[in-house]
Amino acid sequence: MARPAVTAPPEPDPRTEELRTRLAAVAERIDRATADAGRSDRPQLIVVTKFFPVEDVLRLAELGVRDVGENRDQEASAKADAAAATPAGRDLRWHFIGQLQSNKARSVVRYARSVHSVDRVPLVHALGRAVLDHRPAELGPLACWVQIDLDPGVDRGARSAGMTGTSGGTGRGGAPPDQVLPLADAIAAAEGLTVAGVMAVAPRGDDPDPSFARLAQIAADLREAHPSATGISAGMSADLESAIAHGTTHLRVGSDVLGPRPAVG
Ligand SMILES: *Cc1c(COP(=O)(O)O)cnc(C)c1O
Repeated sequence: MARPAVTAPPEPDPRTEELRTRLAAVAERIDRATADAGRSDRPQLIVVTKFFPVEDVLRLAELGVRDVGENRDQEASAKADAAAATPAGRDLRWHFIGQLQSNKARSVVRYARSVHSVDRVPLVHALGRAVLDHRPAELGPLACWVQIDLDPGVDRGARSAGMTGTSGGTGRGGAPPDQVLPLADAIAAAEGLTVAGVMAVAPRGDDPDPSFARLAQIAADLREAHPSATGISAGMSADLESAIAHGTTHLRVGSDVLGPRPAVG
């Protein structure tokens, strides 16, 4: 059968339109909070795409998103490989934001621009070894963020026994604040790693303002020793305004851009 000479324009993809609307709403919140804080530097948005398919990542790329975050290596590496094979996804920058086992370092350095969840020295060493052997040169040095546990109620004894993130605290990993400097020193000493700054998740259920104020102070202290560590990675869907008021430079926003996360199977 002959093709019709004139084809109808393609139907707009409803999911792309949904993402466009949600992304615009988040961008507007960021703009407003940045203005309210009297800041002229707009924080960078990392869209957290965990649990959503690579098709959504590619839709976001077509809408202009360049930075995406993932928290599990298996999922992230598969999506990063799939996206890299497409014109829209080739220029994406992948950021690893979840708790990371040292034995996954070799995989993560293959695709990630940054790791926001560096919380212990053995992980620094694993990442340092991995970048030397497994990192594609075009990705450049691996930007490492020191993740801090901001929950004052965390049980230090249990943590030093190796039960990080499982015994009280935010349950989301992170080093105690007094470990930030030794961790940053270890990162700075490793070839192929750079100290990007500090990262935190506000403790669940609390007013995030005091936590983000504390994080800003920790970041300022870190910059005294490591002047290039200018970053603060803080602020998610529920608390991005507070994070912006307290000087965050990188927001990690998932559900307000992508919608409620699918149930974990
Ligand atoms: C999932 C996740 C986010 C995004 O959270 P939302 O509430 O969906 O915006 C940010 N940071 C980390 C570490 C996460 O695991």
